[in-house]
Amino acid sequence: GCIQKPFRADALSALLQKVASCRGEISEAMLEEAVEREELDLHYQPYLDLQSRRIIGAEALVRWQHPQRGPIPPSAFIPMAEKSALIGKVTDLVLAKAVAQAARWNDRLAPLDISINLSARSIQDVTFPEQILRLCRQHSLNPARIVFEITETAAMQDPVMLMDVLTRLRLKGIRLSIDDFGTGYSSLAQLRRLPFSELKIDLSFVSTMMASRDSEIIVKTIIDMARNLGLRTVAEGVETPTILERLGELGCNVAQGYLIGRPMTAPQIPSFLGNYAAAQ
Ligand code: C2E
Ligand code: MG
Ligand code: MG
Ligand code: MG
Repeated sequence: GCIQKPFRADALSALLQKVASCRGEISEAMLEEAVEREELDLHYQPYLDLQSRRIIGAEALVRWQHPQRGPIPPSAFIPMAEKSALIGKVTDLVLAKAVAQAARWNDRLAPLDISINLSARSIQDVTFPEQILRLCRQHSLNPARIVFEITETAAMQDPVMLMDVLTRLRLKGIRLSIDDFGTGYSSLAQLRRLPFSELKIDLSFVSTMMASRDSEIIVKTIIDMARNLGLRTVAEGVETPTILERLGELGCNVAQGYLIGRPMTAPQIPSFLGNYAAAQ
C-alpha cells in the first residue's frame, strides 16, 4: 500500500520519499515536513537531587511522532539533522516547547529546572543567546532555570569559537553542562576554560559501575574532580537502587535514570511528582 498512482512532478518527490520510507529510511525531506507539521514533541525525564531526595528538574528529550511508524528516537534523526541546516529548525522547535513547558511548571506546579540538549551547530550562531533570552521574556521564565547540555565531543570541536556564545549565556544565568562526560577525548585544561557548571557522567560508566571496578573508579574520579573544580555532577542511566546508593556515597549531586523515572509526556509529570514525593 506504499506506492500511489499519481505521477505529477510535484508528486514525484513525495513518491520517492514514500519509497525510501517503505525501505525503512529516514530522509531529510521527511524530517523537514515533520518539523513543519510539528510532529516532533518532547518527553521529560526527571532529575533527582541526591541530598534532598527531591525531583528538581527534568531533561527535555525530543521524539518524532511519526503518524505511521510511531515514535522515532532522536538517535535515528538528530545526527542526520546535524549534517544540514535542519538542526536549526529542530532546535528552535525544541527550545520553544521546552521553555513554554518549564514556564508553566514554574507558574503552576513546582520550581523545576529544565535541561535542554544542544548541538554544536546551534551554539555556533552568535544570535543564539539573544534568541533564548527573548523566549524567556516571552514566557516569563527565569533563565537561571535553564541548563543547556552539550556533549563533550561537541564542546571540544571548537572551544575557542564556542567561548563567546557560552560566556554570554552564562552571564545571563543559564547553566551549561557537559553531556556524556568521559566518552570524548577532551583536554581538561581546555574544557575548564569554558564556563561549564556541570558534568553529566555518561550512562556507559554509571550502568556498569557495580559490575566493573574500572567503571566505578571512573565514576568516582569524575565526581571527585568535579567537586574540586566546583562543578555539579549528574549521573545518567541509573537503573538500580544499589547504583543510586553508591552514587550518593561517592558524593554525586543528581541522578537520572529508569529507576527514578522514564522519559514521560508533560501531562504525566504532575502525578509523577506527587507519587514520588509520597513514596519517599
Ligand atoms: P542524552 O542527552 O545523553 O540523553 C540520555 C539518553 O539516555 C536518553 O535517550 C534517555 O532516554 C536515555 N536514558 C535515560 N535513563 C536511562 C536508563 O536508566 N537506562 C537507559 N538504558 N537509558 C536511559 P534518548 O531520549 O533516546 O536520547 C538520546 C540522545 O539524543 C540524547 O542523549 C541526546 O544526545 C540526543 N537528544 C535528545 N533530545 C535532543 C534534542 O532536543 N536536541 C539535540 N540536539 N539532541 C537531543
Ligand atoms: Mg542530555
Ligand atoms: Mg547524556
Ligand atoms: Mg548519553
